[in-house]
Amino acid sequence: MKILIADDEKVSQLALKRSLEKEKYTIELCRNGKKALEMIKDDKDIRIVILDPDLPDMEGLTLCREIRKMNSFRYIYIIVILSGSREELVAAMDAGADDYIALPFENDFFIFRIKTGERLLEIEDRLHKSQKELMRLVREDSMTTLLNRRAFIDEAVRQLDRASRENQPMSAIMVDIDDFKAINELYGNYIGDRILAEFANRLRFGCRPYDIIGRYSGEEFFVLLPNAKVNNAVKIAKRLRSILSKKYYDIQGRSIKITISFGVSFIIPDVGLKDRQIDFLIKKTEVALKKAKSDGYDKIALNAEG
Ligand code: GH3
Ligand code: MG
Ligand code: MG
Repeated sequence: MKILIADDEKVSQLALKRSLEKEKYTIELCRNGKKALEMIKDDKDIRIVILDPDLPDMEGLTLCREIRKMNSFRYIYIIVILSGSREELVAAMDAGADDYIALPFENDFFIFRIKTGERLLEIEDRLHKSQKELMRLVREDSMTTLLNRRAFIDEAVRQLDRASRENQPMSAIMVDIDDFKAINELYGNYIGDRILAEFANRLRFGCRPYDIIGRYSGEEFFVLLPNAKVNNAVKIAKRLRSILSKKYYDIQGRSIKITISFGVSFIIPDVGLKDRQIDFLIKKTEVALKKAKSDGYDKIALNAEG
């Protein structure tokens, strides 16, 4: 963790620096607000900023507000150097400062406040980490680590919104393992689960990094292909078929062969409601999948209706 001291007065800047370095903190120095903002943007280790309200190019409290406006995931703990008047204190608080040190500065008080800031930042970081983890758990299907149905639809709506702004095509492939019930009956549910997990890995491997893949339900998966015309999507489905079913699934000494049916469809994004359009695309792709099944399994079927 680094501490940035933004102060144009060399003497007080060096006094603060010396006292913090005794406590083993890493210190960065700057003399004006513009430079301070740049340093905070560029150096993700800067977490505490001590600032002088009288910087040559920008008022310290303006700098404080600018830091708060920054769209950053890490919280910056701001300590303002004040001479101690009540008005100054209120203004600093309004500008988003977390704490202040009054001049003349007293070393023990100063270090105490830095340590308090550090502790709060640690709590904030832990909270942020668990929030991220929670978000991941809410969005992810635990067996395959692909997006779950809800997260897939949310992501699909976002992508369609972008596609319609950029006037790009969008296709979808629905992937369904043939007769998976029989595989469970033959080999047991544990092996069924392992097949699904490897299936998902192969699916991920076969898609482009920006494709959206979701586990739609038990043995049904959806792939959304931004920027793909429907004939391209059919080519991708053929490639996926080879990746997903050509090689046997080797699990617990057994070599298991599966076949898969694919439904392919597309949408021309327009200005209307995106969740309705995604609903429409999903239904169209389901119709294609049904056709692949009724054509006798292990097939790729296209629904090219507008
Ligand atoms: P079809 O060829 O028509 O798709 O038939 P199917 O048996 O593959 O499909 P159906 O929709 O009739 O049944 C899906 C099967 O997938 C039944 C269910 O037990 C199995 N399944 C769903 N989720 C899981 C899972 O998480 N683990 C395991 N082992 N099996 C699952
Ligand atoms: Mg199936
Ligand atoms: Mg199914």
